[in-house]
Amino acid sequence: MRTVKAYAAPSATEPLVATTIQRREPGPHDVVIDIAYAGICHSDIHTVRGDWGPQHYPLTVGHEIAGTVTEIGSEVTRYQVGDLVGVGCMVNSCRECANCAAGQEQYCLNGNVGTYASVDRDGTITQGGYSTHVVVDEDFVLRIPESIPFEKVAPLLCAGITTYSPLRHWNVGPGMKVAVIGLGGLGHMGVKLAHAMGAEVTVLSQSLRKKDDGLAMGADHYYATSDSATFETLKNQFDVILNTVSAPLDVDAYVGLLTLDGTMVNVGAPPEPVSVHLFSIFTNRRSIAGSSIGGIAETQEMLDFCAEHGVAPETELISADQINEAWERVLASDVRFRFVIDIATLGQ
Ligand code: NAP
Ligand code: ZN
Ligand code: ZN
Repeated sequence: MRTVKAYAAPSATEPLVATTIQRREPGPHDVVIDIAYAGICHSDIHTVRGDWGPQHYPLTVGHEIAGTVTEIGSEVTRYQVGDLVGVGCMVNSCRECANCAAGQEQYCLNGNVGTYASVDRDGTITQGGYSTHVVVDEDFVLRIPESIPFEKVAPLLCAGITTYSPLRHWNVGPGMKVAVIGLGGLGHMGVKLAHAMGAEVTVLSQSLRKKDDGLAMGADHYYATSDSATFETLKNQFDVILNTVSAPLDVDAYVGLLTLDGTMVNVGAPPEPVSVHLFSIFTNRRSIAGSSIGGIAETQEMLDFCAEHGVAPETELISADQINEAWERVLASDVRFRFVIDIATLGQ
């Protein structure tokens, strides 16, 4: 085992602290990654705070990882020392079930191994990217295109793929009207990606505070959901609504904005269940759907798409000692639009 520097949550309620964690010695198929940047996802906060169930502490989170390969196992074929690589939300899966065979490892029928807070094959609890190094099987490592600014790329590994995958699945493209609810980490990537795919994009945000930012990202329209007139004005309009909000919403109100055969795809993951009046979806033969991150091949496709279309996240680079403050800002919807930790500052 190797001891590396990290930031970890001692419990569900205490601030994160600088500490050390253990990483395994690289096996034949592993690469060792020197982490340069780690994005802060709202899921990190949900997980640590116990929103989705009890956890083992201390816990290091972070599943938007960008770094450089510093060592490779004896049988690694896809990566070399010095390669720029990324790791997203999962680090393994069974590789045998029907969903893994279909390249949808995120839906592994035996449960994928999450980058943090998951039981790894050796029985230990996985620890995430708020740390200086990580050891990952090469099959779950992504290649980072050099044209995407390295200090901005990390959020693509979760926020990017989580919005790209449903937009692709529901065939978003020219001639389609897409609404994105919530202009945070996921939402701003949803806007940029849907715009790059050629759709007409509308942002549905709590207020008009971030309107100029949203329009600069490629949104065609921007509405405040605090204004009830918004729900009248936009009735029966959208082919796809992508809900990225971390809190429960009035689903009936949003579903009313879908056109014939329109779909509301939920990627936001509030702790509480939501309710829906089925008459809301009988109208216009609407669908309510969900989507979880994306497969490894699709994540590489997303990175390459972003490189080709010049899409990159809007980030605010912070030092490790600002993580707790950044978490409070995420909780207050005060993020523009993803915090990225400069891992070089960790443990200084
Ligand atoms: P985030 O940066 O905090 O963005 C969420 C946005 O939702 C906020 O910026 C805010 O946007 C809006 N919002 C927050 N609270 C709200 C409320 N009470 N009512 C209405 N709108 C509210 O979070 P994120 O990192 O993008 O993650 C969003 C959610 O997706 C989280 O629940 C996260 O766990 C989940 N997630 C799911 C997956 C998946 O695979 N399905 C993957 C990653 C993350 P405005 O200020 O514009 O209104
Ligand atoms: Zn995430
Ligand atoms: Zn599987």
